[in-house]
Amino acid sequence: MLTTVDLNPAKKVDLHWNDISMEQAWRQASPVVARLLEQTMAGMPLSAEEAVLLAQADGADLIAVLKTADDLRQQVAGDRITYVVNRNINFTNICIVGCRFCGFGRAPKAEGAYFLPLDEIVARAVQAQERGATELCIQGGLPRDMDGYHYRNILLAIKAELPDMHIHAFSPMEIIYGVEKTGLPLREYLLMLKEAGLGSIPGTAAEVLDNDIRRLLSQNKLKVHQWVEVIKTAHQVGIPTTSTLMYGHIEEPRHWIRHMLLLREIQAETGGFTEFVPLAFIYEKTRLFQSGKGRAGSSLREDLLVHALARLFFNGSIPNIQVSWVKLGFEVSIACLQAGGNDFGGTLMEESISKSAGATFGEYVSPEEFQAMIRNAGRVPAERTTTYKLRRVFSSRDSEAAIRVRPQPMPAGHRHYSGTGY
Ligand code: SF4
Repeated sequence: MLTTVDLNPAKKVDLHWNDISMEQAWRQASPVVARLLEQTMAGMPLSAEEAVLLAQADGADLIAVLKTADDLRQQVAGDRITYVVNRNINFTNICIVGCRFCGFGRAPKAEGAYFLPLDEIVARAVQAQERGATELCIQGGLPRDMDGYHYRNILLAIKAELPDMHIHAFSPMEIIYGVEKTGLPLREYLLMLKEAGLGSIPGTAAEVLDNDIRRLLSQNKLKVHQWVEVIKTAHQVGIPTTSTLMYGHIEEPRHWIRHMLLLREIQAETGGFTEFVPLAFIYEKTRLFQSGKGRAGSSLREDLLVHALARLFFNGSIPNIQVSWVKLGFEVSIACLQAGGNDFGGTLMEESISKSAGATFGEYVSPEEFQAMIRNAGRVPAERTTTYKLRRVFSSRDSEAAIRVRPQPMPAGHRHYSGTGY
């Protein structure tokens, strides 16, 4: 089991939150932090001000935050670490929006621009099912001349071949684009997609739900109220969504908390979020970083804190906290799974968005590799559906423990890679 992480290799600060009890961690923390953590474990919701205070935690306070988040995860989600066998299909990278944090979008005639025809999307979907996938995650750029019914047509084409496949598709930005293109009311548009086979919506395009930050990230991105309207309407018509936060660029911890507060309020109203996924900013190939405006991604401390704070702040209302292995790598992902996280995300099979922005952690993890990593972390692997129904719990140690996990490229020294929010 992972017991220590070098928070800052230059200083060799080790975090031993697995080696001590929560009560010991509280005793070593400052009284105000210990009191807030104790109240959280007693079921009292953290206020935004209290959560901002916890977001400043360092040293013994930080260890107490991480340890409490891990214990709360145990209460809410148990010992299992779940994953879904899925495939990403990013059907086009042509995009008119021009987000500064994005390394994926291209002009129509730019080198590497592509738009997959429907039969290629269906072929990839069929291949995914043959390899055991239960979910397709489909998102793309926003080409200027795209038909607003194209999203529906993708669903119909896949469902004609694979009626049982769960399709998790189209960010709120894409939904708004379809609404604008077709002129249909939002509710009607979502009902049309649901009828065509849409199972759930990724809560991407959220980045940070703060219009001042969003203006700096992308002038043309949908506004906070639009993201909220799409998400709430989806929940109201029976389409669940995920929720995300992109961190490690120009935002501050108070923005994380304001963002989480809005998500918590939506969840109290609709109950439609399946999970929360912190997305570390992948900076290398983005204009935001290259223009000197965005920082070079998140620190390890921020990665751990964001996952832990999410666990504490949602306090069971959003029961699943997912790590994004594509953005964090395996080692940091496992650390975050011991600081509040309980879900490893998907096997993916292909991933273009983070890779285009500079991520180097690969595009596919086999279910056996997930199982081996989860075992090594002392937890129980379980395959789930998109909506967190368990498909198989691997309760006995059999051959998967012997599977070797591929080494991943890890930057030397302080972790300074990050990810796009889309
Ligand atoms: S993040 Fe999405 S909307 Fe923004 S430029 Fe990239 S592909 Fe386009």
